[in-house]
Amino acid sequence: MKRLVYALVGLFLLGALKGESLQEKAERIVREAIIIDAHEDVPTTLLKEDVSVRRGKGHFDLPRAFLGGLTAPCFAIYTPHSYDNNHPAEFALREVAGVYRFAYQNSDRVLIAFSWKDILRAKGEGKLAIVVTMENSSPVEDPSQLLVWRRLGLRMAILTHMRTNRYADSSTDKEKWGGLSPQGREMIKVMNRLGTLVDVSHLSDKAAEQAIELTELPPVASHSCARALNPVERNLPDYLIKAIASKGGVIGVNFFPVFLSPEVSSRWKEVYGEFKRKLKEEGREKAVEFLHRQMDKLPKTDVKDVVKHIKYIADLVGIEHVGLGTDFEGISVAPVGLEDVSQFKNLVYEMLKEGFSEGEVKMVLGENFLRVFRRADEVYWKNFPWMAK
Ligand SMILES: [Zn+2]
Repeated sequence: MKRLVYALVGLFLLGALKGESLQEKAERIVREAIIIDAHEDVPTTLLKEDVSVRRGKGHFDLPRAFLGGLTAPCFAIYTPHSYDNNHPAEFALREVAGVYRFAYQNSDRVLIAFSWKDILRAKGEGKLAIVVTMENSSPVEDPSQLLVWRRLGLRMAILTHMRTNRYADSSTDKEKWGGLSPQGREMIKVMNRLGTLVDVSHLSDKAAEQAIELTELPPVASHSCARALNPVERNLPDYLIKAIASKGGVIGVNFFPVFLSPEVSSRWKEVYGEFKRKLKEEGREKAVEFLHRQMDKLPKTDVKDVVKHIKYIADLVGIEHVGLGTDFEGISVAPVGLEDVSQFKNLVYEMLKEGFSEGEVKMVLGENFLRVFRRADEVYWKNFPWMAK
């Protein structure tokens, strides 16, 4: 039914805007649409750089975000695993403070989204809505502290990152818990009450499967691609994509070329092995220098590779379960044509060319994630009515 409505609206607009080229249409869509990017590592950048002005590097700054039509970037409060047993909350709160400071200093252009309605308000006022999320939940030292984090704005959290921690096994580390730990399970139960979305990106397959089963909210994978198109552990196998969709969740397609393309990931494996050898034998400086040199030599990916993953997931489970999770500011290389937050129009152009309707494009750009944020807030406000906005 929804599809039919979108198709009819699309047909109507097509008629009304006859004569519009595909390029013009793509540009209009990014101006009109709510664009939610489910994963950006900007809080880490904020610790050392000013992103309120245009920079000659990185993927995000305010001028480029407005140029690209971005509405709501999810800023991941990321804590390196080296802090897991060394005051992780202290580290994470420094990042939160940085995000708040950034919003305060740019309050004419930026707000922090404490509810899904704030995302709509930001769009209406021409502002950027920051959604606070978390990558590696070690800073939440006990599930009982989650309420405080929710109050700080936390809307979505990944239990771990590249390593297995006390909450969950990671997809890129050894198995310790057979999925989730007892404390990890407890975290999800509290998240259910608080309306904090469970994000399964980075989790081992077993941990993700258990987390999807335990969550009463729509599960999300904020920045993950499809393993069927590129067999790396960080990508989602079909059965997990189906499990997420069966509970109304959304998968944000990651822009990192190593996850997008099998050619890049196999070359990357060789480069990374060599990097680790150099790190041991020649020291950090030489190893990092080597890594940077090799980055430029990786096979190229472009906007078509991102659309392939969008299309694959949409064909498997439906377009209402696909979104974007660029991983900007957290990736060392990006696809050609999608180098930063100013380039979403190129993605839209390619999707239109591939036959996606305007309605479908807008769902992927942000409406799908907006739907799950709304659902999460409804649960939060029902359980904690005095927090309702
Ligand atoms: Zn990540």
